[in-house]
Amino acid sequence: MRTMIIGGGIGGLTTALSLHAAGLDCEIVEAAEALRPLGVGINLQPHAVRELTELGLDGELAASGVETTFVTFTDRAGNEILALPRGRRAGYRWPQYSIHRGRLQMIMLAAVEERIGPVRTGLRFEDFEQDGDGVTVTLYDQSSGATLRERTDVLVGADGVLSAVRARLHPQGDPLMWDGIRMWRGVAVADRIMDGATVLVSGSNSAGKFVAYHISATDPRLVNWVAEVKVAEGGVIDEEADWSRPGRLEDVAGHYAGWNHRHFDIPALIAASDRILEYPMVDRDPLPYWGEGRVTLLGDAAHPLYPIGSNGGSQAVLDARVLARCLAGAGDPAAALKAYENERLPPTAALLHGHRSLPTDTWVDLVAERAPDGFSDISEVLTEQELAAMADAQHRLTDADVRELNERPSWSVRR
Ligand SMILES: Cc1cc2nc3c(=O)[nH]c(=O)nc-3n(C[C@H](O)[C@H](O)[C@H](O)COP(=O)(O)OP(=O)(O)OC[C@H]3O[C@@H](n4cnc5c(N)ncnc54)[C@H](O)[C@@H]3O)c2cc1C
Repeated sequence: MRTMIIGGGIGGLTTALSLHAAGLDCEIVEAAEALRPLGVGINLQPHAVRELTELGLDGELAASGVETTFVTFTDRAGNEILALPRGRRAGYRWPQYSIHRGRLQMIMLAAVEERIGPVRTGLRFEDFEQDGDGVTVTLYDQSSGATLRERTDVLVGADGVLSAVRARLHPQGDPLMWDGIRMWRGVAVADRIMDGATVLVSGSNSAGKFVAYHISATDPRLVNWVAEVKVAEGGVIDEEADWSRPGRLEDVAGHYAGWNHRHFDIPALIAASDRILEYPMVDRDPLPYWGEGRVTLLGDAAHPLYPIGSNGGSQAVLDARVLARCLAGAGDPAAALKAYENERLPPTAALLHGHRSLPTDTWVDLVAERAPDGFSDISEVLTEQELAAMADAQHRLTDADVRELNERPSWSVRR
């Protein structure tokens, strides 16, 4: 059984590695002329690190990323509201990593090239038709201008938030939903933040949020930052969501001018970045179903999430592993894809709704209301019950159950 994967991002590459590990044939078709280490920081949760460990990437992740110790929420001045242990400190058998997205993609790409062969770049998915025996895929070759028609047994759309496979499967239209928050992102060389391994989240989306964390084991000074500011009411957005769109220093720095943060100088950190990227915080409503017959969706193509729970890449990794497990055990590819969808659609739809409610912000806003001039001890501002509710909200947004993950049998399939 041969699978064609559309998209060589985090989800597509993990799908190829997972199918190969299960003894199944596959290839990746990617629209970009070449896969380059694009993006800035991303977090891999223990549930994803477990799967990447089973694919043999644990050594590379440890050598490149930062093993995250805490996520710490503060008010806009950097006064600590809540610090939650992450990864192994929280009892998981696997760490959480904060890592450069492009570096992660290159680690995965090298493994795909070594184990399977090259990714077919410069080919854009355009259309498919399926019959009882397989799928005919139409690809546009961007270098020659030729249109190619190729057969495959299974087609997986891992082509991201603007997925053309999703548009083909759901032609009624499926708009990008924006909550009015604009995100600016960058990487800068800076002094160590806290212990050098904490994800620091300051402020809230209603009044401006700033997230910063280290992302490199080899250059411990590299800090990834994300500035999130509510600039509009939101709703359906017709702007393209382009992860690589350049942003401007003057558009973002002013929002943080009055902040006097105890851990760093935010305007200086932003100004020290070589490149600033801009992105609207968007998702799409959950779909009633993902695929049809021998065609399915995976990762952001299936369930784009607001990037606030450090979970977009991790959920794509889980999709890939479940898909490979289902296909490996199947005689009938369509039944395998349905089993995959039945397992992955409900939890990712629930996560999507959870992300929309920006759950931890409620508590950060309450702190700003009760202690506008700051505080020295959070117990004077929030009760123990309120802090526990905030911890629970963050847990539901991001985490797998510790015991369940630690004790669940492996999803690896023997060849
Ligand atoms: C360039 C880029 C930079 C990013 N930077 C960040 C970041 O800094 N932080 C963060 O948290 N997340 C970032 N993301 C998003 C993040 O990678 C995803 O949310 C998550 O990892 C899920 O991955 P995915 O594989 O589903 O989608 P993606 O990682 O978005 O990958 C989709 C892939 O499909 C390809 N593709 C799209 N359309 C077609 C087509 N018609 N035919 C063939 N191929 C196609 C794209 O070129 C891309 O390589 C970025 C994504 C991209 C593409």
